Amino acid sequence: MAKEKWYKDGLKFACTQCGNCCSGDPGYVWATKDEIRKISEFLGRDDGWLAKKHLRRVGLRYSLTEKKDGDCIFLTRDGESVGCSIYPVRPMQCRTWPFWTENLKSKSAWDTLSETLCPGMNQGNKHDFVQIELTRKQRTW
Ligand code: SF4
Repeated sequence: MAKEKWYKDGLKFACTQCGNCCSGDPGYVWATKDEIRKISEFLGRDDGWLAKKHLRRVGLRYSLTEKKDGDCIFLTRDGESVGCSIYPVRPMQCRTWPFWTENLKSKSAWDTLSETLCPGMNQGNKHDFVQIELTRKQRTW
């Protein structure tokens, strides 16, 4: 019998829009060719692709770029307020945060992230187990 997941009773999460998950240490925001095409269309380009300042190749994959200060290239800041300039077409990686397999591997992994990176975790509305698992396993949108 499969072992019960530690989050079987659901988890609280409500984004506070602090922007921490879109900034900080260097990392990758993976985008598929289909997602790149959607972002390109959203930006009004007619070539279905993105400029070098927005997209880089990493091996066989593509990642959005970052600004020098570590912010995602599409993160916007206006005083205290942060936003995403491609929010309606943001990649799956951004859509499914924080319900990633690595974040859910243990309660301590989840709580550590909640305390060190994402103040929205363990706050706000409860997401039930089915919702969490659908999000965790989602691969296309
Ligand atoms: S770190 Fe968490 S609370 Fe902050 S913007 Fe990202 S998801 Fe929202």
